[in-house]
Amino acid sequence: MEVFDKAEGWSREEITACQVARLRGSIARSMNSPFYRERLARAGVRPEDIRTPEDVRRIPFTTKQDLRSQYPEGLLCVPRRDVVRMHCSSGTTGTPTAICYTRGDVNSWSDLVARCLHMVGVRPDDVFQNMSGYGLFTGGLGFHNGAERLGCMTIPAGAGNSLRQIKIVEDFHTTVAHILPSYALILGEKLRQMGKNPAEFPLRIAIVGAEPYTEEFRRRIEDLFALKAYNSYGLTEMNGPGVAFECQEQNGMHVWEDAYLPEIVNPETGEPVPDGEIGELVLTTLRREGMPILRYRTRDLTRFLPGECACGRHHRRIDRILGRADDMFIIKGVNVYPMQIEQVIMTFKEVGQNYLITLESDGLGDVLRVQVELRDECFVEDMRVLQSLQKRIASRLRDEVLVTPRVEFVQSNTLPKSEGKAVRVRDLRGTK
Ligand code: ADP
Ligand code: ZN
Repeated sequence: MEVFDKAEGWSREEITACQVARLRGSIARSMNSPFYRERLARAGVRPEDIRTPEDVRRIPFTTKQDLRSQYPEGLLCVPRRDVVRMHCSSGTTGTPTAICYTRGDVNSWSDLVARCLHMVGVRPDDVFQNMSGYGLFTGGLGFHNGAERLGCMTIPAGAGNSLRQIKIVEDFHTTVAHILPSYALILGEKLRQMGKNPAEFPLRIAIVGAEPYTEEFRRRIEDLFALKAYNSYGLTEMNGPGVAFECQEQNGMHVWEDAYLPEIVNPETGEPVPDGEIGELVLTTLRREGMPILRYRTRDLTRFLPGECACGRHHRRIDRILGRADDMFIIKGVNVYPMQIEQVIMTFKEVGQNYLITLESDGLGDVLRVQVELRDECFVEDMRVLQSLQKRIASRLRDEVLVTPRVEFVQSNTLPKSEGKAVRVRDLRGTK
């Protein structure tokens, strides 16, 4: 195993020792903000109380609501003049939260992203095209700095504008792209429409993250472009990308435990769940200077994968994100995650690159409507073939989510596309 920096190859003992020391540091630094000073005093936690990483459980959780209540700079723990950067979350689920970075924070963040890219085989000879939005969104500058730090020629292409993306990839022979999963399939479709074969596109690696997607969806991206796609997880509150990343085994994402202390808890009770069980990911920054955050409830659902990774790294792995606790919807009394639906529909080869889930009431009760784009070549099939396909999809969905959906086929490129993270669910109940 070739590592980018020493910490990447640390043993469990080295990771644990580092976590204890850095957690004490984070607690001490966080006390520079009145918010944490009071919180920790009330809970009676002092840095020296931390003797093992598990002692983190003595610290109260920090919620998104807490961060919002401290917006914009309530959690700042360094003098204002030491701040060199600010980012905001995309605000997918409400008011954004803002994070301030010192120069040290920007540097250590870049190192982490460079480590991720290096882990999946990106090297200075690669041309890295960042197809994610720049601006306040951390996927832009976060990957940009990381790829530059690694030494790649880094192209800040930004989001959308498929024709320009394609031209740049071809003109500069881009080998690695950072791309939203929903956009990857849209880009592939654009290539096809132009009469090009996506598999002949120069890309050899795609870094895919920022929104939930299923294994089926990943395989589609890989097959379409004939490349390797690696899952990337991060969130603004924890700097942005670079928190957890898949290695070449493609079997779970290693959380960089020298920089973040991960826990997985039962979302209702806040108690830790056993390894392998699904719960809410909770993260503590271990290196951040500007705004240390302790025990942040991410609302993201995943599980620790038990056992060692074949790659030889000892940083623990989390499973792909199942979804956000906020994504779950209840229909006819059943809890459903959009990814359960994606997982089913993406196994049908006739299904194209986009879908939309709509929740409605029709007077008799709630209706789960699933619109899926069909591949162009399937639209010419005769009525009976399509009806039978519709029935098969509906029945597989019913098995998965226990509600019979109304499956509708639409032509490719007709469902709404977003420039940023895909909107998979519309809830129109109660709007009439
Ligand atoms: P927002 O929460 O407003 O979207 P961010 O841009 O900070 O703000 O996005 C972070 C969130 O994006 C994470 O908390 C998670 O829900 C989602 N996310 C990031 N990476 C992934 C991934 N690889 N798989 C699934 N979801 C992801
Ligand atoms: Zn691994």
